[in-house]
Amino acid sequence: MGSRAHAVVLLLLAVVAVPSIALIKELEPGQVWPERGSVKQPSDLIQNVTDTTEDAVPAESELEDAPPEEVLITKAADLTKNDVQKVDYSGAQVWKVPTDKTGVKNIISRLRRRNLLSTWGGNQTYIDVLVKSNAITNVTRIMKRENITYHVVIDDLQKRIDEENPPLDQNELELQDRRGHRMTWKQYHRLADIHGFMDYLAKTYPSIVSVQSIGKSFEGRDLKMLRISNGKAGNKAVFIDGGIHAREWISPATVTYFINQFAENFDVESEDIKNIDWYFVPVLNPDGYEYTHMADRLWRKNRKPGVVGRACYGTDLNRNFGYRWGGKGASNNPCSEIYRGSRAFSEPETKAVSNFIKNIASNFTAYLTYHSYGQYLLYPWGYDNVVPPDYEQLNLVGNNIAQAIQQTGGSQYSVGSSSGLLYPAAGGSDDWAKAQGIKYTYTIELSDTGKYGFILPTSYIEPVARENLAGLRVLANVVHKG
Ligand SMILES: [Zn+2]
Repeated sequence: MGSRAHAVVLLLLAVVAVPSIALIKELEPGQVWPERGSVKQPSDLIQNVTDTTEDAVPAESELEDAPPEEVLITKAADLTKNDVQKVDYSGAQVWKVPTDKTGVKNIISRLRRRNLLSTWGGNQTYIDVLVKSNAITNVTRIMKRENITYHVVIDDLQKRIDEENPPLDQNELELQDRRGHRMTWKQYHRLADIHGFMDYLAKTYPSIVSVQSIGKSFEGRDLKMLRISNGKAGNKAVFIDGGIHAREWISPATVTYFINQFAENFDVESEDIKNIDWYFVPVLNPDGYEYTHMADRLWRKNRKPGVVGRACYGTDLNRNFGYRWGGKGASNNPCSEIYRGSRAFSEPETKAVSNFIKNIASNFTAYLTYHSYGQYLLYPWGYDNVVPPDYEQLNLVGNNIAQAIQQTGGSQYSVGSSSGLLYPAAGGSDDWAKAQGIKYTYTIELSDTGKYGFILPTSYIEPVARENLAGLRVLANVVHKG
């Protein structure tokens, strides 16, 4: 393994029960969801709840999509310098472990707390774990002793990372020069290319496309939002975000693909697409996104330093939204991969979304948030295994979207509530959006199902984006006609 600029520190954290804070009155089954704007904001209520320093580790039987106990402390890298040393994953492996056998989840949790592995993805039947190179012998021995079966999905993670995003060939480079922007969907692009592309569209199609910054990231980058609209009064609106989690590169790639399709072909687009006001924020976590390109390919959170005196960085933006903030599947330990932040909307990135949606007069009917991986179409609630009163409609539309995706590109997406299909995770953007009264709210976990995981080769970008565009058209039809 190459030398690391980053100190790896192991901290054993006390597992404590989280006090559950009932912030919002439950809706009874069949009760109609209140009008948008009338839902009391939990962020107003939690200001005087003091944060504890212990980790809010969910029960051991619950899976998380990230390892709360892993303490991989990375020093703040100055991304303007060229000497940033990258985290090296040479020899690290990804294993798929079936969790149907009793006790497997507990053993995985224990190994995670000992910092021998971290969680990548999974559902209620299996879990994908990243085993660090120096832990492979140890973890292999433990798995054998405990009689746990698994198979190695990725046998050298750094090799996959090195092969994931190759430079463009000469043809593409020449095309790129002629196009007026640098986006290709044949490569994962840096933030400057994505923002440049958005500005290009606004300049080229000023009658339908506009770009604004809805705020700044912690490190001062613009949170750029692109709007596509024919300007008709009475249009319904759809909000789409990408890149909340830094390492999920397929998400900004897919969202920018949608933008490109609608903006470049607006005149010949369907009536559904043309008569909706579209709001896209393709990279909601620009600091984290740049960090994954420069320093650590597997960084997930934003880059705000944790509380003073603790060396850990970053808040999980998808645990920081202000509905049922601080509940299950979110941690109050700044070193955790699922750190919820010091309070609801403590992060400039989440606060910007909240401010924007609450202050604009648009009639938001759908909110889509694109993540990876696993191929899921998830509707609320995420905070616990309960569903909203209109879940049958959400499920039906979800199934229709999934069908369109499969018919177009062949990928199978599972549909269900996020807590029911996966595991509880409070503080997500989807729950918050639903609590604002936005009806069709989905988290879409893009491809794949674990062969490459987060390190999805660039050849997947177009197929994934294309089949999901077909899914988005189904949603657009429901929003427009419904
Ligand atoms: Zn994600």
